[in-house]
Amino acid sequence: MASIEVAQRTMGFKTSSERERCGNCRNREAREYYGRDGLRCAVGGFMVGPYAVCEKYAADRRHEPQEAQG
Ligand code: SF4
Repeated sequence: MASIEVAQRTMGFKTSSERERCGNCRNREAREYYGRDGLRCAVGGFMVGPYAVCEKYAADRRHEPQEAQG
């Protein structure tokens, strides 16, 4: 394993797409909002931005390959 990968793993590094956020939360729903695509939180019932997050975050593993889940 390359030294960069070791450092990232040691630090718990996450890319922007891996980081916990509304955009990859299981509780998000795609919704049209004022004629534009948006995200709605099914738990709170309000519109959210893709990089927002809350304490009810739940990882969405529905689209991951089975062997990658853990
Ligand atoms: S507000 Fe919280 S529960 Fe709702 S989609 Fe965002 S992270 Fe998930």
